[in-house]
Amino acid sequence: MQYISTRGQVPPVSFSTAVEQGLAPDGGLYLPEALPDLTAYLPEWESLGYAELCEAFFAIFATDLDRSELSGIVQRSYTKFDDPEIAPIRKLDETHYVLELFHGPTLAFKDFALQLLGNLYEAQIARTGRPISVLGATSGDTGAAAIHGLLGKTGVTTFILYPDGRISPLQERQMTCTGADNVFPLAIQGSFDDAQTAMKTVFEDREFAAEVGLSAVNSINLARILAQCVYYLSAFFRLPAEIRESVIFVVPTGNFGNVLAGWLVQQMGVPIKGFRVATNQNDILHRLFATGTYELDAVAPSLAPSMDIQVASNFERFLYYAVGQDPAKVREIMKTFKETGKYVFEDFDDSSFSSSRTDDSEIPGIIGRIYDSFTYVIDPHTACGFAPVDENGPEIILSTAHPAKFPDTIVDAIGLESTHPSLEALKARQIVKHQVEPTPEAIKAFMRQHVNLPS
Ligand SMILES: *Cc1c(COP(=O)(O)O)cnc(C)c1O
Repeated sequence: MQYISTRGQVPPVSFSTAVEQGLAPDGGLYLPEALPDLTAYLPEWESLGYAELCEAFFAIFATDLDRSELSGIVQRSYTKFDDPEIAPIRKLDETHYVLELFHGPTLAFKDFALQLLGNLYEAQIARTGRPISVLGATSGDTGAAAIHGLLGKTGVTTFILYPDGRISPLQERQMTCTGADNVFPLAIQGSFDDAQTAMKTVFEDREFAAEVGLSAVNSINLARILAQCVYYLSAFFRLPAEIRESVIFVVPTGNFGNVLAGWLVQQMGVPIKGFRVATNQNDILHRLFATGTYELDAVAPSLAPSMDIQVASNFERFLYYAVGQDPAKVREIMKTFKETGKYVFEDFDDSSFSSSRTDDSEIPGIIGRIYDSFTYVIDPHTACGFAPVDENGPEIILSTAHPAKFPDTIVDAIGLESTHPSLEALKARQIVKHQVEPTPEAIKAFMRQHVNLPS
């Protein structure tokens, strides 16, 4: 299987190259050159455990890895989850199921992809002998999941920028209390945007990028999307057979990465009925599906901070299919959007999607209502999936984070402490972070000093 760019200006590459590069050199995102039809596999996959299912799925895509190597990578990636089912389903009532995606080491769904990505990187470095350094900017969950996916991986040095004092104390502890010597959390004085802007400038310095083997772990990496496909398959098999094909998957959405994975599974022939894109008050995607206009707006910080985005970076992958797999059209739309902050679609097929929007003022009430009805505590991101809508059929809501990550919101909503042993354990550990100026020069200097280059 080869991978093509949504912008069509680079030749197809192997799975490993697509994973190593992250973003394609023409600025596009990688996609399989043709989506496989999974229909024939479904009967034999039905009874597989999570890691076996993941291996069988990746065997179709990672065709340049040998099967035993792939098997080892996948097996190692799901050992740090605290539920034997990895992605268990909770039934609340006849029409509400919850897919719990918070059993990984940082208690958020990003672990599904980043645990695997860490092992893919390590295998790749062993094969090529080229160490890499990872640079990322985070407002919370991504940085923690990336650090836990990469810590201790041979040949990888990880640098994560975050705005000092502006992420939740528990998220900061998840990043800074690991004790790992190949991980550098960089606290900057400034906002998340300052961190991101500085990071982008560092990436644009091609010479520096080559010098330190720079790589990105943001949600545009193809391996992250494919890893997320697996829990949709797993959920499909674990839903009661008689309702499976009538269940809507409800996905708390920011960058469109999570829901895109589900949609790809549907496009590969798995009979999933549809998806609801559940946004918070940063609702660029809800407005798109409601009106056909994709238009930038300012980010308003919310109680569900991991969904506070301006531009949904993975939307470009859906766009590629929505415009009939025409890279020239993708380039034109992305250019218009970049220049004007807006694109009006004449007619594009969004028939698999509905959408909803949840304001900050509604989130505590929703958490309270779900707790009162089911004695079940949901986090503020998952709460957006429980927005009241005119849907009568069965739904499965993807629970993207454990409520204990957001204790203040939970106390406000239901008057109860939400805790988790792994977070409690962190409170006893020492914070190790580094203060760095949010300038490309300062970041590069720090990286040069700490990167683990071959002597
Ligand atoms: C990242 C994140 C999201 C948004 O996921 P996307 O793939 O960006 O749509 C939702 N909830 C939580 C808890 C997250 O960490």
